[in-house]
Amino acid sequence: MRILIVEDEPDLIDALSRTLREEGYAVDTAEDGEEGLYKAKTWDYDAILLDIMLPKLDGLGLLEELRKSKATPVLLLTARDTVDDRVQGLDSGADDYLVKPFELSELLARLRALIRRSTGTASPQINIGEVTIDTASKSILKEGEEVNLTAREYALVEMLALNRGKLVTRTTLYEHLFDENEDSLSNLMDVYVSNVRKKLGKDFITTKRGQGYLISV
Ligand code: CA
Repeated sequence: MRILIVEDEPDLIDALSRTLREEGYAVDTAEDGEEGLYKAKTWDYDAILLDIMLPKLDGLGLLEELRKSKATPVLLLTARDTVDDRVQGLDSGADDYLVKPFELSELLARLRALIRRSTGTASPQINIGEVTIDTASKSILKEGEEVNLTAREYALVEMLALNRGKLVTRTTLYEHLFDENEDSLSNLMDVYVSNVRKKLGKDFITTKRGQGYLISV
């Protein structure tokens, strides 16, 4: 899952990106509204954390512009808790909002819910054969036993599980699992897939040669 943070407070950017990376998300950042809009239109993010008060173009302006072409889930971060702000934010196409200061644990929970809703998965648990993926605790059970995956391996499994039955191209996987600063080596995905197969079974992920991967329904 790849997240864009549009925020102009350096300390908050640092705290948010560190926390999200620890949770296994790929993270891009933008420090003003224009840069944020450019990135939001260029890449297919799984969600955007959007501050309202931003230099160059404010968050609501960015959102209105973005909604002309994209439905990327947006969580607004607002400094002012007034009814007008919230109504205007939701009317502009935001999916949810948080009032600063907020607890990082609440932000993470809302982000997970937002991504889940956008993929049409109502329950935090996804069952595939004997494997259970818990998107709330980011843990995986096989036959009731917890399996240890790295954050990246988990992200790969979650992405395929949320799109189960559908082919996910290598390009899409790279775009959602790596951030803009990472040098995505072409064979890295094969390594993750191979590790996941060792842990969850060799038939858990199907390879469509030259196209991508899928988890069968
Ligand atoms: Ca701000």
